[in-house]
Amino acid sequence: MAEVVLTGLGKAYGDGTRAVTDLNLEIRDGEFLVLVGPSGCGKTTALRMIAGLEQITEGTVHIGEQLVNDVPSRDRDVAMVFQSYALYPHLNVYDNIAFGLTLRKLPKSEIDHRVREVAEVLELTEHLDRKPRNLSGGQRQRVAMGRAIVRAPQAFLMDEPLSNLDAKLRVQMRAQIARIQREIGVTTVYVTHDQTEAMTLGDRVAVMRRGVLQQVGPPQELYDRPVNLFVAGFIGSPGMNLVSARLDENDGRYWVSLDSDALLLPESVLRGRPRLRQYVGREVVVGIRPEDMEDTALADAREGEILHSVADLVEAMGSDVLVHFPVDVPPVVTDDTRELAKDAGTDDLPRTAKGTVLVGRFSPRTRIY
Ligand code: ATP
Repeated sequence: MAEVVLTGLGKAYGDGTRAVTDLNLEIRDGEFLVLVGPSGCGKTTALRMIAGLEQITEGTVHIGEQLVNDVPSRDRDVAMVFQSYALYPHLNVYDNIAFGLTLRKLPKSEIDHRVREVAEVLELTEHLDRKPRNLSGGQRQRVAMGRAIVRAPQAFLMDEPLSNLDAKLRVQMRAQIARIQREIGVTTVYVTHDQTEAMTLGDRVAVMRRGVLQQVGPPQELYDRPVNLFVAGFIGSPGMNLVSARLDENDGRYWVSLDSDALLLPESVLRGRPRLRQYVGREVVVGIRPEDMEDTALADAREGEILHSVADLVEAMGSDVLVHFPVDVPPVVTDDTRELAKDAGTDDLPRTAKGTVLVGRFSPRTRIY
């Protein structure tokens, strides 16, 4: 096990494409770090530079104490798990898992011990004689994991390992990867475009855009305090409401003015943000998490809390009901539905919530950009 340190890491491809720019990350010993971002943001390129599969244009990669820029991939002591699994079709599960150890010419008894131990952890023991073509997608994925684990590498590097699985299996395997990683405690760098996967798996999550790191931190920190509009829009499902408004100041109190309503910003939103003052009188974007739009009964609303908007779309999703309110563009979404149901005086929410007036009370999590 080891820490992985990226310093000023950059990659320009031969055709001039800049895939990664000045990437600085310290992935701690035993940490699970997820690199996330939209397609083409450079996350795979970054991972491949760590793995030694891509030439580094600028900066350095250290694994453990060692500078590995010029160390060939096979000597970096890292194990990669790809989206495609890359299993050997002519070898059975046992030999696929054992492959790396056989190459290293370890004693047969030790190979056998390690393969069976890993197969046990991954619940593959009864499939050891099967060829990959006779396995389900999830089982193949576990064999690929097994091949990585059995080598006991310094770090795991995973590139979208779950994207070929159906939705249900993906959730199961996600939990299994999290459990295994915690159990064996290997430093892991995991690439995905799926923010839910990133949030559920990562000890920390690093968000990239156009080759540039935007923010890195524990999932909750990214959710509560996204540093810019990109992270605010990318992290969270349903997404954060990002509403254009004007920032006004009146008697030392700050307001955001939308079309016809003005909402009061609580003190807590302003605390520690002295520079906000310079935006007074200007257009800003207000970021509000759906669950932070409280929907109080109209009669209970205080000054600066009423947003006159009529729900125009209700999406029942089982445990949650998403209610859309058109406020400027894009629409405000709230998913706190109990109060809405109470206001409507009925349990039959999906139908009656249409037409409910939204009463907004901003939480401390409200962000101004
Ligand atoms: P995805 O999730 O779609 O795989 P990604 O975030 O992993 O995307 P990369 O594959 O790292 O992104 O690609 C980053 C950028 O570098 C993209 O603009 C891509 O088109 C470009 N790129 C990737 N490989 C090459 C290459 N061999 N030659 C030129 N450009 C490349």
